[in-house]
Amino acid sequence: MPRHHPRRSYWRLLLPLIAIAIYLNGGCSGLRTGLERWIDRTFGQATPREQYRWSNSVDAATLVRWDTAYLRARRDTLRIDLPHEEILAADTNVLYTAHAWRFFLPPGRLLTIEAVAPPSAAALFGELYGADDRRLLLWDTLTHRLTYETSAPLGENLLFLLQTAPYPDSTYRIRLRTDPSLLFPVAGADEGDIRSFWGASRAGGRRRHEGNDIFAARGTPLLAVTDGRVSRVRNGGLGGKTVWLRDGQRGLSYYYAHLDSQLVAAGTYVQRGDTVGLVGNTGNARTTPPHLHFGIYANGARDPYPYLQRQDPEPDAPAFLPGRQTQVPLRGKHYLRSGPTRSAANVLRQLEGGESFIELGTTGRYRRIRTTRGELGYANFD
Ligand SMILES: [Zn+2]
Repeated sequence: MPRHHPRRSYWRLLLPLIAIAIYLNGGCSGLRTGLERWIDRTFGQATPREQYRWSNSVDAATLVRWDTAYLRARRDTLRIDLPHEEILAADTNVLYTAHAWRFFLPPGRLLTIEAVAPPSAAALFGELYGADDRRLLLWDTLTHRLTYETSAPLGENLLFLLQTAPYPDSTYRIRLRTDPSLLFPVAGADEGDIRSFWGASRAGGRRRHEGNDIFAARGTPLLAVTDGRVSRVRNGGLGGKTVWLRDGQRGLSYYYAHLDSQLVAAGTYVQRGDTVGLVGNTGNARTTPPHLHFGIYANGARDPYPYLQRQDPEPDAPAFLPGRQTQVPLRGKHYLRSGPTRSAANVLRQLEGGESFIELGTTGRYRRIRTTRGELGYANFD
């Protein structure tokens, strides 16, 4: 007579719970194990792209090619500078439905990636990856948009991948640009009023300037650059009247120095845009015109400039729409490049006159092309 094993049924109940507990813990660290991916599939945390893949009626052979395009784009090595704008062709070849861009995002910048596509356009899937191939974010498939800020002190190399559903019927435009992640701390001023930068020599070279000096009339309101807690309000020393604001979300502290007066008390919470004090020249600034010394600290000082620098200029609009199969002009020297800029460092090889290629997109006066040898690059035939 077979023995009953009550422990086995406990395990049947416990294992999924343990798996979920591991998953929830792992979710915080951002690392995704094979087990977590299995749980994603089983418990419905699939990406919009995966959901589309499982639910649509496209034939299996097309899906294999669609996945091939996706995996190939994950390994793309084309590099761009921000801001960037590109028009992608509506290619009927499923192998050309996925594109990727590599770029560097400095600290202090809020990245926005968005696509402009006609409402009738095929579904668009956008995914952002970190340097170690870790998926960071998926964009909203309704608005075709995502925003991201790096927490890496020296910035981060990123890859953005875009794939349309098979057989798109219209071109679409993709834009990547950045804004300062903080509100400018002096009311009515901007980066043009910064007159002393990070690293400038101080006290005859004995120390370096750990911040930016922003000049404005005495009494100009000083604003909270983000939501946070006023951690210290002091009077005395080099900074004179100072205010420290703690930003728990980013793990940063902001230092406002040389104030004429402080208008907040330590321990209070402020919102982005609240007035924390007024511009003055207290402390070692008493012999200079009124200005704010603004500093950012997180395990040491950080250059505040990228956090304050105004929004990116408008990227160069593509000069023409992508065509179809095209040929390299017979006249002149033309190069396949890893980025849409004229630099000796990004030349992949010289193209041959009359060589044919497929045009995938356009940016400025450059074309994103795939050669008949299977290489991907940018080319400019001016
Ligand atoms: Zn200063």
